[in-house]
Amino acid sequence: MQEQAVNPPSEPNKPGSQELLLESSVNLKPFNTFGLPATAHCLVRIREAADVRRVVDHPKLGRAPKFILGGGSNIVLTKDIEAVVLKMEIPGLRLLEERDDAWIIEAGAGVSWHALVQWSVEAGYPGLENMALIPGTVGASPVQNIGAYGLELKDRLDSVEVVDLTTGRTVLLPASVCQFGYRDSVFKQTGPGGLAGKCVITRVRLALPKPWRPVLGYLELERKMAETGISQPTSRQIFDWVCQIRRAKLPDPAVIGNAGSFFKNPVVTLEQCRDIIGRDPGIVHYPMPDGAIKLAAGWMIDACGWKGKTVGGAGVYEKQALVLVNRGEARGAEVVTLARAIQESVYGRFGIRLESEPVML
Ligand SMILES: Cc1cc2nc3c(=O)[nH]c(=O)nc-3n(C[C@H](O)[C@H](O)[C@H](O)COP(=O)(O)OP(=O)(O)OC[C@H]3O[C@@H](n4cnc5c(N)ncnc54)[C@H](O)[C@@H]3O)c2cc1C
Repeated sequence: MQEQAVNPPSEPNKPGSQELLLESSVNLKPFNTFGLPATAHCLVRIREAADVRRVVDHPKLGRAPKFILGGGSNIVLTKDIEAVVLKMEIPGLRLLEERDDAWIIEAGAGVSWHALVQWSVEAGYPGLENMALIPGTVGASPVQNIGAYGLELKDRLDSVEVVDLTTGRTVLLPASVCQFGYRDSVFKQTGPGGLAGKCVITRVRLALPKPWRPVLGYLELERKMAETGISQPTSRQIFDWVCQIRRAKLPDPAVIGNAGSFFKNPVVTLEQCRDIIGRDPGIVHYPMPDGAIKLAAGWMIDACGWKGKTVGGAGVYEKQALVLVNRGEARGAEVVTLARAIQESVYGRFGIRLESEPVML
């Protein structure tokens, strides 16, 4: 990482302890929203950025492979974790700066993403409302450039504070170097230049533009406007609508284990899309600003007859075929078997390879 090193910022709610909190043989079932069984041989709770530096300097942990765990809402655990699990619990939520053109807010990596959105809307810093109720932590939000209802993290990100897992140095990365794409970023990439597993995101800064303008292009939000007769919704109104829409559509992980959308919506060329429409005129698709076309993966899975199906303990959610669920005592291997079977049948019918969204471990 070439960016400028910064002094570690003041730690809000600093726990004040110099000791690492180490645990062994930790059951990870409560720590992943799919509710899959797995054990972490060693787990360290990261409560401040200095804890990451302590891990790097630790005689045993320093050189061991690491896995960074946020809220566990975008992972599929297929086996026990040999790597040292760094469980992100850094707190802190504050307005860092108010500028003429934006509010700059900052949150610790362990803060719940939804708590950040709710706090910002209620505190009068609008701009994140379309991304309400996305599970997981603030620290994981740049990893796959989370997005929903017409907004992505990249549209609001100012910078990311990371700690290098080799050197222990703190670096502030501006949004411009994060290589954001659709459910992708430099933090997810494993190839040359990729930062997956190489650094821990400890703090995230967001720039919420002034004056606030609602993002309303999304069909389901337009429907809400038509139903309610509200043509100029507030940030709070949009927040509430997004929560209502998501609760009606997606399974609550506290009730039915899942990791949200299991596959990315594939992006194809106009020619490929025309070819598919020739064979399947009903296919749901969205033109993108760059001329490419995004296909609705959930529609394709449904068209292959998977909605509501079960394989072992894993299944396809009845209301949304893009979501795979834990029917009870699912194991990671069953989820993977189901996902592969879906990929094969979608490829057989449409010639499109669906890519998984969660990280497989
Ligand atoms: C019901 C449901 C709905 C969802 N809806 C959406 C949606 O609308 N849009 C969307 O984009 N996603 C959605 N998701 C996916 C998920 O919420 C996001 O990907 C979220 O950002 C994951 O956060 P997490 O803290 O749970 O990350 P985890 O699952 O713990 O980790 C995911 C990846 O990020 C890495 N990571 C985690 N924290 C850090 C860190 N601090 N530093 C470096 N790497 C880190 C992990 O190593 C792992 O590779 C949904 C999930 C569920 C269960």
